[in-house]
Amino acid sequence: MEVTKAICVLKGTGAVTGSIHLKAGEGGHSTIIMGEIYGLTPGKHGLHVHTFGDISKGCGSTGPHFNPCNETHGAPQDKKRHVGDLGNIEADENGTARFEIVDRLLRLAGKHAIIGRTMVVNDKEDDLGKGTDEESRETGNHGPGVAWGIIGVDEDPK
Ligand code: ZN
Repeated sequence: MEVTKAICVLKGTGAVTGSIHLKAGEGGHSTIIMGEIYGLTPGKHGLHVHTFGDISKGCGSTGPHFNPCNETHGAPQDKKRHVGDLGNIEADENGTARFEIVDRLLRLAGKHAIIGRTMVVNDKEDDLGKGTDEESRETGNHGPGVAWGIIGVDEDPK
């Protein structure tokens, strides 16, 4: 089965909820990520795909950022980045973030496939690997997750 659509329903231990829809871009050269997240603190929050789909201990058991190419942490537009690095999303004064990201590395199928892995929204802003400490190049100092969900297959488009 060729997966061309996916969904991720987000929940955490607090008030943050949301959902993210993903679909394969034209010609399979990109992935489009559309989300609506509620209950955030206003401002920027990191968004990443973590390696594992194990949410038995919340986002704490989902492993590091999905990194099949063994790179350092970065911004989505950087050459060196984790495949799972989606940068930041921004919540408005009501705590709602609506976004559409076109990403060139994430895929729903193949070596960079993210189906069965976990999407995590963070408490804080991702410094995109630009900080001076070691943690910056690993996670971007984005703090704990406030909502997470496993990325699953969604309906066939036909
Ligand atoms: Zn990363």
